[in-house]
Amino acid sequence: MGIPLRQAARIGTYLVRQKLSGRKRYPLVLMLEPLFRCNLACAGCGKIDYPNEILNQRLSYDECMEAIDECGAPVVSIAGGEPLLHKEMPEIVKGYLARGKFVILCTNALLLAKKIDDYTPNEAFTWSIHLDGNEAMHDKSVCQTGVYEKAVEAIRLAKSKGFQVSINCTLFNDADPAQTAAFFDEMKELGLNGITVSPGYAYERAPDQQHFLNRTKTKELFRGILARGRGGKAWPFTQSRMFLNFLAGNEAYKCTPWGNPTRTVFGWQKPCYLLGEGYAKTFRELMDDTEWDKYGVGHYEKCADCMVHSGFEASAVDDMIRHPIKALGVAIRGVRTDGAMAQDIPLDNQRPADFVFSRHVETKLAEIRTAKHGSNSHKPRITRTGGTGKPGPEPMVAAE
Ligand code: SF4
Repeated sequence: MGIPLRQAARIGTYLVRQKLSGRKRYPLVLMLEPLFRCNLACAGCGKIDYPNEILNQRLSYDECMEAIDECGAPVVSIAGGEPLLHKEMPEIVKGYLARGKFVILCTNALLLAKKIDDYTPNEAFTWSIHLDGNEAMHDKSVCQTGVYEKAVEAIRLAKSKGFQVSINCTLFNDADPAQTAAFFDEMKELGLNGITVSPGYAYERAPDQQHFLNRTKTKELFRGILARGRGGKAWPFTQSRMFLNFLAGNEAYKCTPWGNPTRTVFGWQKPCYLLGEGYAKTFRELMDDTEWDKYGVGHYEKCADCMVHSGFEASAVDDMIRHPIKALGVAIRGVRTDGAMAQDIPLDNQRPADFVFSRHVETKLAEIRTAKHGSNSHKPRITRTGGTGKPGPEPMVAAE
Protein backbone atom coordinates (compact mmCIF):
# COMPACT_ATOMS: atom_id res chain seq x y z
CA MET A 1 0.00 0.00 0.00
CA GLY A 2 1.20 3.52 -0.82
CA ILE A 3 -0.89 5.11 1.94
CA PRO A 4 0.06 4.70 5.62
CA LEU A 5 -2.59 2.78 7.57
CA ARG A 6 -3.26 5.68 9.95
CA GLN A 7 -3.95 7.97 7.00
CA ALA A 8 -6.21 5.41 5.30
CA ALA A 9 -8.13 4.92 8.56
CA ARG A 10 -8.62 8.66 9.14
CA ILE A 11 -9.76 9.26 5.56
CA GLY A 12 -12.05 6.22 5.80
CA THR A 13 -13.63 7.63 8.97
CA TYR A 14 -14.12 10.99 7.27
CA LEU A 15 -15.80 9.33 4.28
CA VAL A 16 -18.13 7.25 6.43
CA ARG A 17 -19.09 10.38 8.38
CA GLN A 18 -19.94 12.21 5.14
CA LYS A 19 -22.03 9.28 3.93
CA LEU A 20 -23.89 8.96 7.24
CA SER A 21 -24.64 12.69 7.25
CA GLY A 22 -26.26 12.25 3.81
CA ARG A 23 -24.02 14.91 2.25
CA LYS A 24 -24.30 14.59 -1.53
CA ARG A 25 -21.09 16.41 -2.47
CA TYR A 26 -18.05 16.64 -0.24
CA PRO A 27 -14.33 17.26 -0.76
CA LEU A 28 -11.64 14.63 -0.35
CA VAL A 29 -8.46 16.49 -1.32
CA LEU A 30 -7.99 20.25 -1.41
CA MET A 31 -5.91 21.06 -4.50
CA LEU A 32 -4.04 24.20 -3.59
CA GLU A 33 -2.24 26.20 -6.24
CA PRO A 34 -0.74 29.05 -4.22
CA LEU A 35 1.14 30.38 -7.26
CA PHE A 36 1.46 29.70 -10.99
CA ARG A 37 5.13 30.68 -11.31
CA CYS A 38 7.39 27.73 -12.16
CA ASN A 39 11.09 27.17 -12.78
CA LEU A 40 10.34 24.71 -15.58
CA ALA A 41 8.14 24.96 -18.69
CA CYS A 42 6.94 21.41 -19.41
CA ALA A 43 5.48 20.52 -22.79
CA GLY A 44 2.24 19.10 -21.40
CA CYS A 45 1.61 21.78 -18.75
CA GLY A 46 -1.44 24.01 -19.10
CA LYS A 47 -0.99 25.79 -15.77
CA ILE A 48 1.64 28.48 -16.30
CA ASP A 49 0.62 30.32 -19.47
CA TYR A 50 -0.07 33.67 -17.77
CA PRO A 51 1.27 37.21 -17.92
CA ASN A 52 3.91 38.12 -15.33
CA GLU A 53 1.50 40.09 -13.18
CA ILE A 54 -0.47 36.89 -12.58
CA LEU A 55 2.62 34.69 -12.29
CA ASN A 56 3.80 37.06 -9.54
CA GLN A 57 0.63 36.58 -7.50
CA ARG A 58 0.77 34.38 -4.37
CA LEU A 59 -1.91 33.06 -2.03
CA SER A 60 -0.93 34.32 1.42
CA TYR A 61 -0.55 32.06 4.46
CA ASP A 62 -3.93 33.30 5.72
CA GLU A 63 -5.65 32.60 2.38
CA CYS A 64 -4.18 29.07 2.34
CA MET A 65 -5.49 28.40 5.88
CA GLU A 66 -8.89 29.89 5.02
CA ALA A 67 -9.13 27.53 2.04
CA ILE A 68 -8.79 24.40 4.21
CA ASP A 69 -10.96 25.80 7.01
CA GLU A 70 -13.69 26.58 4.48
CA CYS A 71 -13.71 23.22 2.70
CA GLY A 72 -12.69 20.82 5.52
CA ALA A 73 -11.01 18.19 3.29
CA PRO A 74 -8.77 15.76 5.21
CA VAL A 75 -5.94 15.99 2.65
CA VAL A 76 -4.20 18.95 1.00
CA SER A 77 -2.20 18.58 -2.19
CA ILE A 78 -0.06 21.65 -2.84
CA ALA A 79 0.84 22.13 -6.48
CA GLY A 80 1.30 25.10 -8.79
CA GLY A 81 3.54 26.37 -10.46
CA GLU A 82 6.43 25.29 -8.28
CA PRO A 83 5.42 25.50 -4.59
CA LEU A 84 9.03 25.76 -3.38
CA LEU A 85 9.22 29.22 -5.00
CA HIS A 86 6.62 30.41 -2.44
CA LYS A 87 8.47 32.01 0.48
CA GLU A 88 5.79 31.12 3.05
CA MET A 89 5.61 27.44 2.05
CA PRO A 90 7.23 26.00 5.23
CA GLU A 91 4.72 27.93 7.38
CA ILE A 92 1.82 26.88 5.14
CA VAL A 93 2.79 23.20 5.52
CA LYS A 94 3.13 23.64 9.32
CA GLY A 95 -0.25 25.37 9.47
CA TYR A 96 -1.96 22.46 7.69
CA LEU A 97 -0.22 19.86 9.86
CA ALA A 98 -1.27 21.77 12.98
CA ARG A 99 -4.86 21.46 11.73
CA GLY A 100 -4.47 17.66 11.54
CA LYS A 101 -4.40 17.51 7.72
CA PHE A 102 -2.37 15.18 5.53
CA VAL A 103 -0.12 17.30 3.34
CA ILE A 104 1.29 16.35 -0.06
CA LEU A 105 3.82 18.88 -1.35
CA CYS A 106 4.31 18.48 -5.10
CA THR A 107 7.61 19.69 -6.50
CA ASN A 108 9.85 19.26 -9.51
CA ALA A 109 12.64 18.90 -6.89
CA LEU A 110 15.01 21.41 -8.49
CA LEU A 111 15.04 23.45 -5.26
CA LEU A 112 14.53 20.61 -2.84
CA ALA A 113 18.16 20.23 -1.66
CA LYS A 114 18.32 23.98 -0.94
CA LYS A 115 15.00 24.13 0.93
CA ILE A 116 14.71 20.74 2.62
CA ASP A 117 15.95 21.86 6.03
CA ASP A 118 13.02 24.31 6.26
CA TYR A 119 10.80 21.22 6.71
CA THR A 120 10.58 18.50 9.36
CA PRO A 121 9.76 14.83 8.71
CA ASN A 122 6.21 14.02 9.78
CA GLU A 123 4.02 10.97 9.19
CA ALA A 124 1.34 13.27 7.76
CA PHE A 125 3.68 15.07 5.36
CA THR A 126 4.82 13.67 1.98
CA TRP A 127 7.07 15.10 -0.69
CA SER A 128 5.57 14.26 -4.08
CA ILE A 129 8.32 14.50 -6.68
CA HIS A 130 7.33 15.06 -10.30
CA LEU A 131 8.80 12.24 -12.41
CA ASP A 132 7.15 11.32 -15.71
CA GLY A 133 9.17 8.17 -16.32
CA ASN A 134 12.81 7.15 -16.74
CA GLU A 135 15.56 9.62 -17.60
CA ALA A 136 14.73 9.84 -21.31
CA MET A 137 10.96 10.06 -20.72
CA HIS A 138 11.14 12.63 -17.91
CA ASP A 139 13.74 14.96 -19.41
CA LYS A 140 11.72 14.98 -22.63
CA SER A 141 8.52 15.70 -20.71
CA VAL A 142 10.03 18.67 -18.81
CA CYS A 143 11.97 19.89 -21.89
CA GLN A 144 15.29 20.03 -20.02
CA THR A 145 18.12 17.54 -19.62
CA GLY A 146 19.45 16.67 -16.17
CA VAL A 147 16.12 17.17 -14.37
CA TYR A 148 15.56 13.42 -13.88
CA GLU A 149 18.97 13.04 -12.25
CA LYS A 150 18.29 15.96 -9.89
CA ALA A 151 14.87 14.55 -8.98
CA VAL A 152 16.35 11.12 -8.15
CA GLU A 153 19.11 12.77 -6.05
CA ALA A 154 16.39 14.73 -4.24
CA ILE A 155 14.42 11.53 -3.54
CA ARG A 156 17.54 9.91 -2.04
CA LEU A 157 18.26 13.02 0.05
CA ALA A 158 14.70 13.30 1.37
CA LYS A 159 14.60 9.59 2.21
CA SER A 160 17.97 9.85 4.01
CA LYS A 161 16.56 12.63 6.18
CA GLY A 162 13.56 10.53 7.19
CA PHE A 163 10.85 12.10 5.00
CA GLN A 164 8.03 10.26 3.31
CA VAL A 165 8.54 10.53 -0.43
CA SER A 166 6.31 9.61 -3.36
CA ILE A 167 6.41 10.46 -7.04
CA ASN A 168 3.69 11.86 -9.28
CA CYS A 169 3.92 10.50 -12.79
CA THR A 170 1.90 11.79 -15.73
CA LEU A 171 1.83 9.62 -18.84
CA PHE A 172 1.37 10.68 -22.46
CA ASN A 173 0.70 8.79 -25.68
CA ASP A 174 4.39 8.08 -26.28
CA ALA A 175 4.72 6.10 -23.01
CA ASP A 176 5.80 2.51 -23.57
CA PRO A 177 4.17 -0.05 -21.20
CA ALA A 178 7.34 -2.14 -20.72
CA GLN A 179 9.53 0.93 -20.11
CA THR A 180 7.00 2.41 -17.70
CA ALA A 181 6.72 -0.85 -15.76
CA ALA A 182 10.54 -1.03 -15.52
CA PHE A 183 10.56 2.59 -14.30
CA PHE A 184 8.06 1.73 -11.53
CA ASP A 185 10.32 -1.20 -10.52
CA GLU A 186 13.29 1.20 -10.25
CA MET A 187 11.24 3.65 -8.20
CA LYS A 188 10.18 0.90 -5.83
CA GLU A 189 13.85 -0.05 -5.41
CA LEU A 190 14.53 3.54 -4.27
CA GLY A 191 12.26 2.88 -1.29
CA LEU A 192 9.52 5.29 -2.29
CA ASN A 193 6.44 5.49 -0.09
CA GLY A 194 4.12 5.87 -3.05
CA ILE A 195 3.56 6.27 -6.78
CA THR A 196 0.75 8.50 -8.07
CA VAL A 197 0.11 7.88 -11.75
CA SER A 198 -2.31 9.50 -14.14
CA PRO A 199 -2.84 10.08 -17.85
CA GLY A 200 -2.16 13.72 -18.78
CA TYR A 201 -5.14 16.01 -19.26
CA ALA A 202 -5.30 17.68 -22.69
CA TYR A 203 -4.83 21.25 -21.44
CA GLU A 204 -5.94 23.71 -24.11
CA ARG A 205 -2.98 25.97 -23.33
CA ALA A 206 -0.22 23.33 -23.14
CA PRO A 207 2.57 23.97 -25.67
CA ASP A 208 2.51 20.34 -26.91
CA GLN A 209 -0.95 19.32 -28.12
CA GLN A 210 0.25 16.19 -29.97
CA HIS A 211 0.95 13.79 -27.10
CA PHE A 212 -2.20 13.68 -24.99
CA LEU A 213 -3.88 10.30 -24.60
CA ASN A 214 -7.45 9.61 -25.69
CA ARG A 215 -9.64 7.30 -23.60
CA THR A 216 -9.03 4.13 -25.63
CA LYS A 217 -5.26 4.63 -25.67
CA THR A 218 -5.26 5.38 -21.94
CA LYS A 219 -6.99 2.09 -21.16
CA GLU A 220 -4.72 0.08 -23.46
CA LEU A 221 -1.62 1.74 -22.00
CA PHE A 222 -2.64 1.03 -18.41
CA ARG A 223 -3.56 -2.56 -19.20
CA GLY A 224 -0.10 -2.96 -20.73
CA ILE A 225 1.61 -1.48 -17.67
CA LEU A 226 -0.45 -3.16 -14.97
CA ALA A 227 -0.17 -6.58 -16.68
CA ARG A 228 3.59 -6.33 -16.04
CA GLY A 229 3.08 -5.68 -12.32
CA ARG A 230 0.57 -8.30 -11.09
CA GLY A 231 -2.42 -6.11 -11.94
CA GLY A 232 -0.82 -3.18 -10.09
CA LYS A 233 -0.04 -5.14 -6.90
CA ALA A 234 3.70 -4.98 -7.59
CA TRP A 235 3.96 -1.23 -6.94
CA PRO A 236 3.04 1.08 -4.04
CA PHE A 237 0.39 3.19 -5.78
CA THR A 238 -1.11 5.96 -3.66
CA GLN A 239 -4.40 5.66 -5.52
CA SER A 240 -7.15 3.18 -4.86
CA ARG A 241 -7.13 -0.11 -6.77
CA MET A 242 -10.56 0.87 -8.08
CA PHE A 243 -9.10 3.96 -9.78
CA LEU A 244 -6.46 1.77 -11.45
CA ASN A 245 -9.26 -0.61 -12.41
CA PHE A 246 -11.00 2.37 -14.06
CA LEU A 247 -7.80 3.35 -15.91
CA ALA A 248 -7.61 -0.20 -17.25
CA GLY A 249 -11.10 0.15 -18.76
CA ASN A 250 -12.93 -2.11 -16.31
CA GLU A 251 -15.22 0.66 -15.06
CA ALA A 252 -16.83 3.67 -16.75
CA TYR A 253 -17.13 6.20 -13.94
CA LYS A 254 -18.63 9.66 -14.13
CA CYS A 255 -16.21 12.20 -12.67
CA THR A 256 -16.52 13.69 -9.19
CA PRO A 257 -14.94 17.13 -9.68
CA TRP A 258 -16.00 18.44 -6.26
CA GLY A 259 -13.94 15.65 -4.65
CA ASN A 260 -10.78 17.66 -5.37
CA PRO A 261 -11.84 21.31 -5.09
CA THR A 262 -9.17 23.69 -6.33
CA ARG A 263 -8.16 27.04 -4.84
CA THR A 264 -5.86 29.24 -6.95
CA VAL A 265 -4.94 32.94 -7.00
CA PHE A 266 -8.12 33.42 -9.09
CA GLY A 267 -10.40 31.97 -6.38
CA TRP A 268 -12.17 28.57 -6.19
CA GLN A 269 -11.88 27.10 -9.67
CA LYS A 270 -15.01 25.86 -11.50
CA PRO A 271 -15.54 23.01 -12.06
CA CYS A 272 -12.32 21.15 -11.28
CA TYR A 273 -8.55 21.10 -11.01
CA LEU A 274 -8.19 20.75 -14.79
CA LEU A 275 -10.71 23.25 -16.14
CA GLY A 276 -10.90 26.95 -15.26
CA GLU A 277 -14.35 27.77 -16.62
CA GLY A 278 -15.14 30.22 -13.82
CA TYR A 279 -14.19 31.18 -10.27
CA ALA A 280 -16.09 31.42 -7.01
CA LYS A 281 -15.18 33.65 -4.08
CA THR A 282 -15.96 31.03 -1.44
CA PHE A 283 -16.05 27.25 -1.20
CA ARG A 284 -19.77 27.40 -0.40
CA GLU A 285 -20.38 29.40 -3.58
CA LEU A 286 -18.33 26.84 -5.57
CA MET A 287 -20.43 23.96 -4.25
CA ASP A 288 -23.81 25.69 -4.49
CA ASP A 289 -23.50 27.72 -7.68
CA THR A 290 -21.49 25.49 -10.04
CA GLU A 291 -23.74 23.89 -12.67
CA TRP A 292 -22.16 20.48 -12.13
CA ASP A 293 -24.34 18.75 -14.75
CA LYS A 294 -22.78 20.89 -17.48
CA TYR A 295 -19.44 19.11 -16.99
CA GLY A 296 -18.01 15.62 -17.22
CA VAL A 297 -17.53 13.02 -19.94
CA GLY A 298 -20.50 13.03 -22.31
CA HIS A 299 -21.59 16.50 -21.18
CA TYR A 300 -18.76 18.76 -22.28
CA GLU A 301 -16.30 18.55 -25.16
CA LYS A 302 -13.29 19.51 -23.01
CA CYS A 303 -14.00 16.49 -20.77
CA ALA A 304 -14.12 13.87 -23.55
CA ASP A 305 -10.67 12.33 -22.96
CA CYS A 306 -10.31 13.02 -19.25
CA MET A 307 -9.42 10.09 -16.96
CA VAL A 308 -7.30 12.10 -14.52
CA HIS A 309 -7.09 11.12 -10.85
CA SER A 310 -8.23 14.56 -9.64
CA GLY A 311 -11.56 13.93 -11.36
CA PHE A 312 -12.03 10.19 -10.94
CA GLU A 313 -10.25 9.03 -7.76
CA ALA A 314 -13.16 10.28 -5.67
CA SER A 315 -15.56 8.39 -8.00
CA ALA A 316 -13.50 5.22 -7.49
CA VAL A 317 -13.48 5.71 -3.70
CA ASP A 318 -17.24 6.18 -3.74
CA ASP A 319 -17.64 2.94 -5.71
CA MET A 320 -15.37 1.19 -3.19
CA ILE A 321 -17.59 2.30 -0.30
CA ARG A 322 -20.77 1.26 -2.14
CA HIS A 323 -19.39 -2.08 -3.33
CA PRO A 324 -16.79 -3.27 -0.78
CA ILE A 325 -16.88 -6.91 -1.93
CA LYS A 326 -16.11 -5.94 -5.53
CA ALA A 327 -13.32 -3.63 -4.29
CA LEU A 328 -11.88 -6.41 -2.11
CA GLY A 329 -11.84 -8.73 -5.13
CA VAL A 330 -9.84 -6.19 -7.16
CA ALA A 331 -7.46 -5.62 -4.21
CA ILE A 332 -6.83 -9.36 -3.81
CA ARG A 333 -6.66 -10.39 -7.47
CA GLY A 334 -5.19 -7.19 -8.88
CA VAL A 335 -6.62 -5.21 -11.78
CA ARG A 336 -7.90 -7.27 -14.70
CA THR A 337 -5.80 -6.52 -17.76
CA ASP A 338 -7.54 -8.57 -20.44
CA GLY A 339 -11.04 -9.36 -21.65
CA ALA A 340 -13.86 -6.99 -22.55
CA MET A 341 -13.76 -3.38 -21.37
CA ALA A 342 -16.71 -1.60 -19.76
CA GLN A 343 -18.99 0.28 -22.16
CA ASP A 344 -17.83 3.91 -22.03
CA ILE A 345 -20.06 7.00 -21.76
CA PRO A 346 -21.28 8.10 -25.23
CA LEU A 347 -20.07 11.49 -26.47
CA ASP A 348 -22.90 12.28 -28.95
CA ASN A 349 -24.65 14.86 -26.80
CA GLN A 350 -21.72 16.75 -25.33
CA ARG A 351 -21.87 20.54 -25.58
CA PRO A 352 -19.08 22.31 -27.49
CA ALA A 353 -16.09 23.86 -25.71
CA ASP A 354 -16.32 27.40 -24.34
CA PHE A 355 -13.08 29.37 -24.57
CA VAL A 356 -13.08 31.62 -21.53
CA PHE A 357 -9.40 31.79 -20.55
CA SER A 358 -8.73 35.36 -21.76
CA ARG A 359 -11.82 36.74 -20.05
CA HIS A 360 -10.66 35.40 -16.69
CA VAL A 361 -7.11 36.65 -17.22
CA GLU A 362 -8.44 40.09 -18.19
CA THR A 363 -10.63 40.25 -15.08
CA LYS A 364 -7.74 39.19 -12.84
CA LEU A 365 -5.37 41.73 -14.38
CA ALA A 366 -7.91 44.53 -13.87
CA GLU A 367 -8.30 43.43 -10.24
CA ILE A 368 -4.52 43.41 -9.67
CA ARG A 369 -4.11 46.83 -11.26
CA THR A 370 -7.01 48.30 -9.30
CA ALA A 371 -5.46 47.03 -6.07
CA LYS A 372 -2.09 48.48 -7.10
CA HIS A 373 -3.14 51.85 -8.50
CA GLY A 374 -6.50 52.38 -6.82
CA SER A 375 -8.30 52.63 -10.17
CA ASN A 376 -9.06 50.37 -13.10
CA SER A 377 -8.08 52.95 -15.69
CA HIS A 378 -5.31 50.52 -16.83
CA LYS A 379 -7.12 48.47 -19.47
CA PRO A 380 -5.36 45.17 -20.27
CA ARG A 381 -3.89 44.99 -23.77
CA ILE A 382 -5.06 42.03 -25.92
CA THR A 383 -2.73 40.19 -28.32
CA ARG A 384 -3.19 37.09 -30.49
CA THR A 385 -0.48 34.86 -29.01
CA GLY A 386 -0.16 32.85 -25.80
CA GLY A 387 2.38 33.66 -23.06
CA THR A 388 4.65 30.87 -24.27
CA GLY A 389 4.77 32.33 -27.78
CA LYS A 390 2.57 29.59 -29.24
CA PRO A 391 -0.69 30.49 -30.96
CA GLY A 392 -3.45 30.26 -28.35
CA PRO A 393 -6.98 28.97 -28.99
CA GLU A 394 -8.23 32.51 -28.28
CA PRO A 395 -6.68 35.98 -27.76
CA MET A 396 -4.31 36.24 -24.81
CA VAL A 397 -4.07 39.25 -22.51
CA ALA A 398 -0.55 40.68 -22.70
CA ALA A 399 1.71 41.33 -19.72
CA GLU A 400 2.81 44.95 -19.58
S1 SF4 B 1 -14.19 15.07 -16.83
FE1 SF4 B 1 -14.57 16.01 -14.81
S2 SF4 B 1 -12.53 16.15 -13.87
FE2 SF4 B 1 -12.21 15.82 -16.05
S3 SF4 B 1 -12.02 17.89 -16.94
FE3 SF4 B 1 -14.19 17.33 -17.05
S4 SF4 B 1 -15.12 18.13 -15.19
FE4 SF4 B 1 -12.91 18.11 -14.87
